[in-house]
Amino acid sequence: MFMKRILVTGGAGFIGSHLCERLLDQGHEVLCVDNFYTGTRRNVGRLLDNPNFELMRHDVTFPLFVEVDEIYNLACPASPIHYQYDPVQTTKTSVHGAINMLGLAKRRRAKIFQASTSEVYGDPTVHPQVEEYWGNVNPIGFRSCYDEGKRCAETLFFDYHRQHKLRIKVARIFNTYGPRMHPNDGRVVSNFVVQALKGEPITLYGDGEQTRSFCYVDDLVEGFLRLMATGDDVTGPINLGNPGEFTIKQLAETVIELTGSKSKIEYRPLPQDDPRQRKPDISKAKTILDWQPTIQLQEGVGRTIAYFDELLASGEA
Ligand code: NAD
Ligand code: UDP
Ligand code: UDP
Repeated sequence: MFMKRILVTGGAGFIGSHLCERLLDQGHEVLCVDNFYTGTRRNVGRLLDNPNFELMRHDVTFPLFVEVDEIYNLACPASPIHYQYDPVQTTKTSVHGAINMLGLAKRRRAKIFQASTSEVYGDPTVHPQVEEYWGNVNPIGFRSCYDEGKRCAETLFFDYHRQHKLRIKVARIFNTYGPRMHPNDGRVVSNFVVQALKGEPITLYGDGEQTRSFCYVDDLVEGFLRLMATGDDVTGPINLGNPGEFTIKQLAETVIELTGSKSKIEYRPLPQDDPRQRKPDISKAKTILDWQPTIQLQEGVGRTIAYFDELLASGEA
């Protein structure tokens, strides 16, 4: 296959590190750019001695002049506790980051992929969520820095596409989980798994009846590659996620069962603006990309447990 120089922003994060690995496996050169806000060198540690891999510390809110053929723009903290810690920086990362990466793509005439999110649908009133749905987002709430930042990034992508004829690929990613999630980032799968392994209480927010659809990271990355490989007429936005919908309580029970933990469920208040339901309609991904997830929740959670078990044993978490 034709070898490309591919930039992955946020490449030292959870999803980005899996993407870098897959791209290297395909024989490409990968430039991983990350400011290590939530990502770590450890996530890409195994790639560091690969001659086709380069790691650069850089904040995408500042311009970046490098020579690449394709760009995957993933830089942005993804978990509520991290993106709400410095909300202004979160918006800057999505908006200024998108402008800089689009400017780079424009100069290079490079194809560019945006990791957008199901959060653009906010607390949805349409279920399951189709790409045509415009969303129900609070513009001034605690989640807005992330949601509106990502929405504005989508706007920029489509305006660069219309105005500058850029080749864009916008994926709306639904909740994804797997090895290399940050152990303390507060996301539900990592929280529950770490709590269960440590024998601590499982913290269930609200009544646990809110739903999410969880996609295993390998499935998601396969979707990224397929979307990037589509013809120039395919821009997205396209939903990528696992349509299997579970209540958060069901997830807690699955984690307890698979770890054999003695942890008990402890109910906590529901965070503000927490969406009640979320499930992707992936008809477009099925038809356009011939893609659908293959890894079921039990199997994926099992693999995630194995990862955190090792991480905890190593004393690194
Ligand atoms: P992550 O926090 O593990 O990865 C994000 C990476 O971006 C980290 O390595 C972080 O250090 C880096 N980063 C943050 N701000 C940066 C900046 N200003 N400059 C350079 N690097 C910066 O999160 P993830 O789960 O791997 O998410 C990756 C992308 O996918 C994000 O854009 C996120 O919004 C999107 N996404 C993720 C999910 C999910 O469920 N994990 C769902 C929807 C969308
Ligand atoms: N940019 C960048 N790398 C490049 C080209 C541009 O970071 O290789 C940045 C540039 O600094 C600018 C942004 O991308 O702030 C948008 O670039 P564009 O060419 O669209 O706009 P302009 O430079 O005309 O403001
Ligand atoms: N959640 C929970 N306990 C936790 C962490 C999260 O019950 O320890 C809930 C959270 O309130 C939300 C769901 O799990 O309803 C998914 O949360 P996460 O932060 O992983 O993703 P998002 O809300 O962004 O979809």
